Amino acid sequence: MDKRIALVTGASRGIGRAVATALAASGCHVLINYRCRQPDAEATLALVQRAGGSGELCPFDVADGTACEQSVAGLLQTHQRIDVLVNNAGIRSDSLLVFMKAEQWQQVLATNLSSFFNVTQPIVKQMALQRQGRIVTIASTAGQTGVEGQTNYAAAKAGVIGASKALAREVAKRGVTVNVLAPGFIETDMTAGLSRKELLAQIPAGRFGKPEDVAAAAVFLCSEAAGYITGAVLNINGGVYT
Ligand code: NDP
Repeated sequence: MDKRIALVTGASRGIGRAVATALAASGCHVLINYRCRQPDAEATLALVQRAGGSGELCPFDVADGTACEQSVAGLLQTHQRIDVLVNNAGIRSDSLLVFMKAEQWQQVLATNLSSFFNVTQPIVKQMALQRQGRIVTIASTAGQTGVEGQTNYAAAKAGVIGASKALAREVAKRGVTVNVLAPGFIETDMTAGLSRKELLAQIPAGRFGKPEDVAAAAVFLCSEAAGYITGAVLNINGGVYT
């Protein structure tokens, strides 16, 4: 298959779905990862195909190191390579730190930060060997500014920024770029329960972002044209001060 192979984690819904669809439209064969919502992942696959692209479902839990190792090995065996990785899967579990349960801390760190190691580590080896690759990780404004009630989420998102900057330096000579997108408030299930009126007042652009706003930037950073951009953090937040 001549198409570039792209793995998008958490692609059953929201930002991941938009990224998967846009990468497919740009000519990638998309590996659609998700955790449990198969009907949603099938809907993403239908959108990918409607965009004229191709893809397949690959469910695994990005927080589970063994599951990631086995699943990535299976994908590499089938496709020989993965050219593009978008680390998008994420959860939040908000609470003031004084009330936060250890489980909330651990789940959010495992899904949003350890997942970076679990998924990227087996893929970057192969990218370095083939001397090309694109890795984009979705962080958040929360990891840049801190947000009250989100010490776990902010720690994880700040963590992926640091990890990406370090990895970018490790693999730059190998033709692999490693970048971060830092969205503000984007209209997805993750933000569905938030008080819009209060939040809109903080956004200079006067609106929430759309998943497609993030997807457009992801497609650019994963393109051939972005080969000299690495270790960058690109804000997609409507002008929120970071
Ligand atoms: P959604 O809640 O809409 O979707 C989350 C996606 O992640 C789903 O596909 C879900 O799969 C998947 N997922 C969750 N946990 C796991 C897991 N353990 N293993 C594999 N897949 C998993 O989130 P968004 O689209 O809003 O967010 C996407 C990313 O963008 C996240 O990293 C989030 O932190 C970040 N972000 C979002 C912002 C926003 O305003 N929405 C702002 C800044 C950053 P399933 O459907 O199977 O549960």
